[in-house]
Amino acid sequence: VRVGVLGGGQLGRMLGLAGVPLGLRFRFLEPAPSPPAAAVGEVVRGEYADPDALARFADGVDVVTFEFENVPAAATEWLRRHGIPVFPPPAALAVAQDRLAEKEAFGRLGIPTPPYLPVSDEAGLRAAVERLGLPSVLKTRRMGYDGKGQAVLRTQADVALAWETLGGGGELILEGFIRFDRELSIVAVRGRDGAISAYPLVENLHVGGILRRTVAPAAGVAPPVQAEAERQIRALLESLDYVGVLALELFEVGGRLLANEIAPRVHNSGHWTQDGAHTSQFENHLRAVLGWPLGSTAVREPTVMYNLIGELPRLHGILAETGTHLHLYDKGERPGRKLGHVNVCRAEEGMALATGERLMGESGVP
Ligand code: AMP
Repeated sequence: VRVGVLGGGQLGRMLGLAGVPLGLRFRFLEPAPSPPAAAVGEVVRGEYADPDALARFADGVDVVTFEFENVPAAATEWLRRHGIPVFPPPAALAVAQDRLAEKEAFGRLGIPTPPYLPVSDEAGLRAAVERLGLPSVLKTRRMGYDGKGQAVLRTQADVALAWETLGGGGELILEGFIRFDRELSIVAVRGRDGAISAYPLVENLHVGGILRRTVAPAAGVAPPVQAEAERQIRALLESLDYVGVLALELFEVGGRLLANEIAPRVHNSGHWTQDGAHTSQFENHLRAVLGWPLGSTAVREPTVMYNLIGELPRLHGILAETGTHLHLYDKGERPGRKLGHVNVCRAEEGMALATGERLMGESGVP
């Protein structure tokens, strides 16, 4: 069985690493040269919307999925026209690519969000700031990731400045600034037969908009909070007739959950599942898109995941520590770039975090 993946970054690489033991072969479509996924399958180098590249990519592929949510609709339409199944469904991509459509979908499903207003010009921004107050967060509706395409507005002076940097496309949203207690996320998977399985809520720490650390499972989650997160992601999966892994990022405020955004793909806050869950998010995504039975999402060992960002730390201590797993993406060092991650697994309560903090400190992980 050959799986086609749109995008050849680290998520594609880890899908391949999960799929090879299952007897799968992989082909990736990727515009950049020598991407991380090259180690685990063929790479067709080309633009996502280029019909010639798509034809070479799609030849002999049984199913197509993606590891990058800004895949142009033209690419998935081309594949559909040529009779190639694409999962998750392109409609889910369309929702996830537009922060306004995403918020409206949350609203229809009774999923609470931060207050927000669409913004299309500078006068509209000023009116929205008037209504939501400061601080607030201005975000482009499309193509934002890792904190890019957004700005926190704290003063009136920030308003004009943010409009200058972000306003160009004229399609934005302004959100009320949430003083959250913490950030959580939930990753779940839905099979072609509609079966759904969710991993436990995890706690995420972002620095400068980039995920630094995930604690899995999140400590001290009240059962009704886990149940509400599962209700929310189930509603999303079902309403989108979704197949594959979906991530939902949440703010926890006074025991309530507000939805921030979805990612229609395997997600950085699910990387802990490679070593800490019975079935990884990568394997479960493949099982789902192939129409196979889903694997257990139960926790095998509590795990803390640390992203390695910008430059690699000293690896010796990380490699030497029992229960600690290094995953590198074969990418060159560059500020803000995700180069790999470390999963620290420990059975005893709180020990994964205590060990991880010590180890990262000793290894020079900021
Ligand atoms: P996003 O790209 O929407 O995931 O935003 C990146 C990060 O910015 C989030 O993980 C939060 O840490 C922060 N953030 C985004 N939106 C808000 C908000 N409305 N209020 C407070 N912090 C936010």
